[in-house]
Amino acid sequence: MRNIYFDYLASTPVDSRVLDKMIPFFSEKYGNPHSRTHIYGWEAEKAIEEARDKIANLINAHSSEIIFTSGATESNNLAIKGSAYFYKNYGKKHIITLKTEHKCVLDSCRYLKEDGFDITYLGVDKNGIVDLNELEKTIRPDTLLISIMTINNEIGVIQPVAEIGEICRKHNVFFHTDAAQAFGKIPLDVKKMKIDMMSISGHKIYAPKGIGVLYVNKNPRVKLKSLISGGGQERGMRSGTLPTPLIVGLGEAAEIAKSEMNLDYQKISTFYHKITNFLLTIPDVFINGSRIENQYYPGCINASFAYIEGESMIASLKGIAISSGSACTSASLEPSYVLHALGIDEDLAHTSIRFSIGKFTTEDDVNYLIDLINISVIRLRDMSPLWEMVQNGIDIKSIKWVH
Ligand SMILES: *Cc1c(COP(=O)(O)O)cnc(C)c1O
Repeated sequence: MRNIYFDYLASTPVDSRVLDKMIPFFSEKYGNPHSRTHIYGWEAEKAIEEARDKIANLINAHSSEIIFTSGATESNNLAIKGSAYFYKNYGKKHIITLKTEHKCVLDSCRYLKEDGFDITYLGVDKNGIVDLNELEKTIRPDTLLISIMTINNEIGVIQPVAEIGEICRKHNVFFHTDAAQAFGKIPLDVKKMKIDMMSISGHKIYAPKGIGVLYVNKNPRVKLKSLISGGGQERGMRSGTLPTPLIVGLGEAAEIAKSEMNLDYQKISTFYHKITNFLLTIPDVFINGSRIENQYYPGCINASFAYIEGESMIASLKGIAISSGSACTSASLEPSYVLHALGIDEDLAHTSIRFSIGKFTTEDDVNYLIDLINISVIRLRDMSPLWEMVQNGIDIKSIKWVH
C-alpha cells in the first residue's frame, strides 16, 4: 500500500530549497534581528529585510507594507479586528463579508458583532461567486471594510478580486482579502487589484507553519490597532521578536513561486482535467464550485459522490490523504457550511470529498488515485441499498422514512 498526498490545500511540505536557506538561521545565525549593537543582530535583520523584499515583490507591494505574523489566522484577525477597533471612533462600524469565508474570518466578525459592530454576511451563487451588484448595494456610509477571500480553501473558486477592489475604492471602503490559498499560486498585484490588506500563510506554499504576512496598504494608508502589546515591532502593528528562520523560509518560497508559479499551474491544471474528466464519467458524481475558466483554481477538486458517505469514501481510499469538506470542520460531522451556501442539499454535501493537488503531485499519484476511486465507487455503491433503489427507479426523496 502506498501513502499519497492529495491534501495540499490543508498544508504543504517545506521545499528542500526553502529548508536549506532556513537552517543556518537556527544554528549559526541565531541573533535577535532587533539587536542593533552587533553582527548577530545585523545579519538576522538583513536576512529578514531580504525576505520582506521578495514577498513584497511577488504582489507588487512596497517592503514596508509587509507585516509578519504567525500565519493567515492571525493576519485575518489583525486585519478585521485591528481595523475595526482603530476606525470605530470615526463612525465606521459596518463590515461586509461572505458566508463562505474561512472560519477565522467568520469568527473574527462574530467577535466584533458581540462588541457592537454590524456585520453583513453575503451569500454566493451556485458556483460560489459573490454578486457584485449586491455587494455594491450593501455598502453604507458607515461601512469600514469588505473582507472577501481570493481562493476558497474548500471549493477552490476565485472571487473577482480586481472588481471588488474597484468597488471598494469607489466607495472609500477598505478591501481585505484572505489570500492564503492564492499567494504564490496565481498572479496577484495589490496595486492593480486595489487591495488594502492581504493575508498570506507560509505553510500553504511550501514554507513552514507558524509564519504568515499581512500586507497593509500605505497609499491609501490603513491604520490598525495592534492586538498584541509589546516592543512595537512591525511598525507597531505586531510586537514580538521576528522568527528569522521562518521568515527566511517564506521569502525563499516567494522567490521560487515567482519563477515557478506558471509551470506549477500548468502541471496542476493538467492533473485537474485528468481527474475531473474521469470523475464526470461516473454517474451521479458532481464537481462543486465553479468550472468556468478563471473562476476556479485547479489545485482543488471538491466532488460529491451521491449515495456514498464521505467517511466511507475516505476509509475506502486507503493511504490517500484527502479531506471531507474543509480540514477545519472535518472533525465534526456537520455538513460543510460552504457547500450549504452554494445551495447543495445536505445529503449530497455529506458525500463530498476535497482532493487537492500541489507541485509535488506526480502522474503516477494521479493514476493511482483514479484507479482507487473507480474501485471504491463500484464497491461502495454495490453495498448501498439507496443506490439499488435508485437503480430500480425509486425516487428516494419521495420515501417517508420510519424511524
Ligand atoms: C489555511 C488557511 C488559513 C489559516 O492559515 P494559517 O497560516 O494556518 O493560520 C486561513 N485562510 C485560508 C483560506 C486558509 O486556507
